[in-house]
Amino acid sequence: MKSENIVAISTALGASGVAVIRISGDSPLDVAEKMFFPLEKLSVRDFEPNKMYVGEIKTDKFSDFGMCVYFKAPKSFTGEDTIEFHSHGGVAITKGILEKALSSGARLANNGEFTKRAFINGKLSLSSAEGLIDMINAESVSGVKAGYSLYREKLTKKITSLQDKITEVLASIDVDIDYPEENLDKVSRETLVENLTFVTNEIEKLLSSFKTGQALKNGVNVALVGKPNTGKSSLLNSLLHYDKAIVSDIAGTTRDVVEGSIDIKDVRFNLFDTAGIRESGDKIESLGVDLSKKILNQADLIVFLLDLADFSSEDQKIFELVKDKNVLVVMNKMDKGDEKIENNINIDLKISALTGENIEKLKDAIYDKTVGEGIDYNGDYLVEQRHFEALKNAKEKLSFALSMVDSVPLDVVAIDIKDGWDYLGEISGKTATEEIINDIFSRFCVGK
Ligand code: GDP
Repeated sequence: MKSENIVAISTALGASGVAVIRISGDSPLDVAEKMFFPLEKLSVRDFEPNKMYVGEIKTDKFSDFGMCVYFKAPKSFTGEDTIEFHSHGGVAITKGILEKALSSGARLANNGEFTKRAFINGKLSLSSAEGLIDMINAESVSGVKAGYSLYREKLTKKITSLQDKITEVLASIDVDIDYPEENLDKVSRETLVENLTFVTNEIEKLLSSFKTGQALKNGVNVALVGKPNTGKSSLLNSLLHYDKAIVSDIAGTTRDVVEGSIDIKDVRFNLFDTAGIRESGDKIESLGVDLSKKILNQADLIVFLLDLADFSSEDQKIFELVKDKNVLVVMNKMDKGDEKIENNINIDLKISALTGENIEKLKDAIYDKTVGEGIDYNGDYLVEQRHFEALKNAKEKLSFALSMVDSVPLDVVAIDIKDGWDYLGEISGKTATEEIINDIFSRFCVGK
């Protein structure tokens, strides 16, 4: 199939040491030979693959001095012939080189088109491509690791092994249907139940890792809650190490939800400061209160802040709102001493947002109450909603099949098992039916 030459600036646009302009397609050398002139007196057509050549990158208006490398199909990222120009980084330079490539036989690549071609050419699975995008977008170490694990096909391999198990099951049913007189029925039913139970359990394990996976990828949402003046903005500043929120001692001045992020043990935590959860006649402030309530519902953890020297029924009311959620009760202003008004709320931790005392302990507590101890970065985590949905659907089909094994003919049960297989296949992006059938027959040569 014909594949047009596509070109794009592959590095971020801006002033930088080096930039990469990449061309992929059937004939990127046709484009390159019009604009790259190596120091060694040879044509780009004589380039040895994977070797950098120094030379002049010529546009219609200017020249740059840089490098060019040729990756020969299929040994390239896209699986196609690919050319990379390594020029100096700069908006005018890279745009000029791009324009030259466009007028020399390449068209502008669409978003993700290089990766899409890599997928079409079987260089990576769909979930691997998703991992790659996750890695590029990651702002925390844990995000990079989660993306990398997907990118390196960890999930696809796992899913493929589960699909193989299901394929075995389907093959045994096929045998059962075709050779009922061989009395395979009882044996195959037992194996079938065993294998399907194994697969659904494995799927369940993956599904239950989704929350952790999401935390690794997107970060954990933490809401700071407490009545006005308990020190939420001060705590946020202390955690973020800068004065983003406005600190004031007039009650109710934190009208917006001020947001910031910190990394604790390589995991990203998104912090939300809330306007005190209190009813207010002031329209702007009550908007803030509505927003606060919304954040409260979306938070993975609520840090409920108290000033015990100033404890009132208002604190008690807020506590009633949050006590059944994942909450950490924190007494602020410990620097003021232990003078306190009695109450029946259990304090998890005492801190001072002002002096910074116990702020590190608070960070540890936030981590423990959410992500928990001992993340195994090499574990199998589900990070994508799409994968979660596919696995949920697969599990539903397989569980249904399991529930029917004893009451329905196996060829009917096979329909749901096959649907389960198909849902799993959505993760890697594999196409379905023919592959299953081929697989079944290649494994079981029973003469058919
Ligand atoms: P918010 O309304 O909950 O956001 O509270 P603020 O952060 O604006 O703090 C209210 C007042 O309490 C300010 O005057 C802060 O300086 C003060 N404050 C905050 N944290 C502490 C603390 O740990 N110790 C003391 N002594 N004062 C604090």
